[in-house]
Amino acid sequence: MPKINVLDKHVAELIAAGEVVERPASVIKELTENTIDAGATAVTVEIKHGGITFMRVTDNGCGIAREDVPLAFLRHATSKVRSQADLAHIGTLGFRGEALASIAAVSHIELLTRTEKELAGTRYLISGGEEETCEDAGCAQGTTLVMRDLFYNTPARMKFLKKDVTEGNAIAAVVDHAALSHPEVSFRFLRDGKEVLHTPGDGKLKNAVFAVFGREFTQGLIPVSYELNGVKVWGFISKPVASRPNRSMQNFFLNGRYVKSKTAMVSMEQAFKGSLMVGRFPACVLHLQVDFSAVDVNVHPSKMEIRFMNEKPVFEAVYHGVKTALQQEDAPSALHLAA
Ligand code: ADP
Ligand code: MG
Repeated sequence: MPKINVLDKHVAELIAAGEVVERPASVIKELTENTIDAGATAVTVEIKHGGITFMRVTDNGCGIAREDVPLAFLRHATSKVRSQADLAHIGTLGFRGEALASIAAVSHIELLTRTEKELAGTRYLISGGEEETCEDAGCAQGTTLVMRDLFYNTPARMKFLKKDVTEGNAIAAVVDHAALSHPEVSFRFLRDGKEVLHTPGDGKLKNAVFAVFGREFTQGLIPVSYELNGVKVWGFISKPVASRPNRSMQNFFLNGRYVKSKTAMVSMEQAFKGSLMVGRFPACVLHLQVDFSAVDVNVHPSKMEIRFMNEKPVFEAVYHGVKTALQQEDAPSALHLAA
């Protein structure tokens, strides 16, 4: 057996970064989450070449104070969690304090940021985890992060990237989900200079759905609004006639976070039982709100997989919420037939 080595800081950083930053879309996911946590009402995401050469995320949120800027790029440095007790009820999208450190380890970053209180903003450059510049800069309140040449120093990761268009599509899906998760935030997405998404940010989920998925999809929807066992369920499901050949249009959000939830999927589909032919699937944009302490988001660094402390109340709320919406949809036409 070769001798055991303690990895130097730089190598350890690159390995840790690989956990969080798998591809350009993971960068955009982390950064859009940060904009929402910062209270932004307008967010612009710009990418070139599928994000591989260039990504820029601009927000009008709270900004980062000068003395905090270098800290934001340290691993396990976060303004969102202080104690072990905080972990039991996480109300922000971020909490690991790993994203900026990870992204900075594998790209060239330029940050421009200013808080409301500061007269001068900060321009900060960091490349491959090494700080290069920290200086005054005139800028609006909020934060702009530019990333260039992702994985420039990790050729193995670079090799696994797919074609620009595939990476770009993965980013588009992330921005879509961000826009649907927070309809009160206006999201713009520019791909190689072309605007491909602009949500109004007026707080109406339907308007965000329209901007993201278009008219035809939106017209085929039924509203859902329900509460049971302390679980709130709201949003839209597809009319049975607007069912799909697969589950790709099933979008679930838990406490403002896009998630994959088998519980939610199965309970929705059970509620549709009898309304759909075999091999057809409902579509949805469904938000669930549960007490922050009833869910563990700390399962995986990507935070997409979540665990409910108790599945049953969630299952019942989704099932009855969807069932009720389907029945209400049926009711007017039944009256119409009777008349
Ligand atoms: P986390 O989101 O888990 O706290 P990050 O590495 O994503 O970790 O961010 C580190 C810290 O940097 C955040 O806790 C926050 O204080 C600050 N920060 C990051 N992005 C922004 C932003 N867009 N606006 C304001 N503050 C930000
Ligand atoms: Mg974060």
